[in-house]
Amino acid sequence: METVTPFKEIIDAIKASGGDAFKYCYQCGMCDTVCPWNRVGSFSMRKLVREATFGLTEIESEDIWRCTTCGKCPQVCPRGVKQIESGIALRRIATEYDVFPKSVEPIRVIAANLRAEGNPFGEDRAKRTKWAEGLDVKQFAEGMEFLYSPGCYLSYDPRAKKIARATVEILNRAGVQFGILGPQESCCGESIRKTGDEALFKSLARQNIAALVERGVRKILVSSPHCYHTYTHEYPEFMVHFEVVHISQLLHTLLAEGRLQLKTEYAKTVTYHDPCYLGRHNGVYDEPREALKKVPGLQLNEMAESRKDSFCCGGGGGRIWMETAKAERFSDVRLGQAIGVGAQVLVTACPYCITNFEDSRLNVKNGETIEVKDITEVIREAL
Ligand code: SF4
Repeated sequence: METVTPFKEIIDAIKASGGDAFKYCYQCGMCDTVCPWNRVGSFSMRKLVREATFGLTEIESEDIWRCTTCGKCPQVCPRGVKQIESGIALRRIATEYDVFPKSVEPIRVIAANLRAEGNPFGEDRAKRTKWAEGLDVKQFAEGMEFLYSPGCYLSYDPRAKKIARATVEILNRAGVQFGILGPQESCCGESIRKTGDEALFKSLARQNIAALVERGVRKILVSSPHCYHTYTHEYPEFMVHFEVVHISQLLHTLLAEGRLQLKTEYAKTVTYHDPCYLGRHNGVYDEPREALKKVPGLQLNEMAESRKDSFCCGGGGGRIWMETAKAERFSDVRLGQAIGVGAQVLVTACPYCITNFEDSRLNVKNGETIEVKDITEVIREAL
């Protein structure tokens, strides 16, 4: 393959992304010490930063696609380098030149699916509400408190659909007035933006915003931290502001206000995994834990790497769609940590984490001894 090394373009793209602080990097290597890749394989953010500073990035290399945007290195960088933003700027160049290494090629199909049907699976847009069959779920109408946006995984993925159904049962039990957009809902666009496809992100965001504004939506309830992040921080770029609530926050509120009563014993030892885009990127650490502590009989054991030190599942930054070699899966390491603290159930609050951990149950020693649940599924069982 011909090497594409557009020096000036690299430097300009990084500047435009607000990542000009690359030049302040003094190569201390702190980023590499906290990076999850140092447990499973070889990737150096320090090296990526060094090469990009001088426009020497090899755009066709796997390295620019490794970062899961977990947010650990910006927490420790003494020089304020914007590793995530600048890394995405490099991917934008690769996307523009249509240069993808083999492990990243699935992105082409994902992007085509998003364009055609508004979801990464290429499933029929008209079937976006099939998950709700047999449940009391209405189309959103003005006057309802929440627009519930289950997102793509909960709408189509057989495992994740169970989370959407548990959510609806909880909302109905608590008397929450909510409705959905149904086929008018498109992927929020968070992950495809992280792969560098800015045009597709903008197109998806505009479709969603038009539908939300037309229906008079003010408050959006989401199940995915990735939807939470993009509706909260990225849609305001289009001059719109919605109040966004993650389901773990609403569960905490409903339980604290007594609108939800948990009466069924859940006599299991669980550990809670902080999804990167709920925890580190958005500071939601306490609400899911407080909700779990209200479950009768539940024992919560914390893993050493929790809250801001949470260990990424490997699914962010669009990597949920890329190929990761078996020996390089972060979720295998994390599942091992959960088993190590004696958990019978690994609880989390993100469909990407659920997808990766369910896979890891098949790869990890003693993986079959632990269940993987979304927080809504645990609360649903305890109703
Ligand atoms: Fe450079 Fe910051 Fe990484 Fe240190 S932590 S090597 S300053 S990017």
